[in-house]
Amino acid sequence: MSKTVILDNGHGGLINGVYQTAGKRSPMYSKGVLFEGMFNRCVINRIKEELDRLSIPYYHISPEDRDVSLGARVTRSNNIFRDNNDTWILSIHANAGGGKGVEGFTTVGDTGSDPIGEVILTNLEKDLRGQRMRFDKSDGDKDKEFNYYILRKPKMSAFLLECGFMDNISDYNNLWDRDYLDVLVKSLVKSIVHVYNK
Ligand SMILES: [Zn+2]
Repeated sequence: MSKTVILDNGHGGLINGVYQTAGKRSPMYSKGVLFEGMFNRCVINRIKEELDRLSIPYYHISPEDRDVSLGARVTRSNNIFRDNNDTWILSIHANAGGGKGVEGFTTVGDTGSDPIGEVILTNLEKDLRGQRMRFDKSDGDKDKEFNYYILRKPKMSAFLLECGFMDNISDYNNLWDRDYLDVLVKSLVKSIVHVYNK
C-alpha cells in the first residue's frame, strides 16, 4: 500500500487582489507585503505540478482561494480517510514572530507523523543549504511538537511545515525567491515520493 499525501495550503489566497485572511502577512519590506496564504499556495501549486509530472497521486483539501475553515479542512480529510486510510497530511505555512529559519511540527508524543517529519526535515536540512533549521532534538528527532488543530483533529498522520519567517528580512527575501521555492519544492516532492513508495 502506498501512503498518499493530502496537501493543505494554510489560510486564504487573493481574490481580485484582496487577501482573504486577517493578519498572516509580512511587514511592508522592499518587495512589498508577502501574504502567507499566497505563499502557501505557490508552494502547494508547484508541488501539485511536480507530482502530476511524476504520476504520483495526491489529495488537496484547500483548493479554494477563500479561507476554508480548519473544521472544513479536517472534515474533508476525514472523508478521504473513509475511502483511503493510507494517507497523511502536509500543511504548508510561513511563520512570523521574530525568529528565523525552517521548522516542522507533529502532534505531541510518538505518532505516525514522527517518521514522516524526520524524512522531510532531513531532506530539507540537506537541500536548503545556508538556511537555519529550528530543530528540537530533545526527544530524539528533529520535529517540534504542538497540538495544532490541523495536526490533532484529522484521523491520519499530519505534518505542518513553517517555511521561514515573514518578519525576518533574510527569510522574507527567501520566501519571495523563485530559486528558494524551487529547492524547497523539489525537496518536499522528494520526501512525498519517498513516503509514497515506502
Ligand atoms: Zn500559517
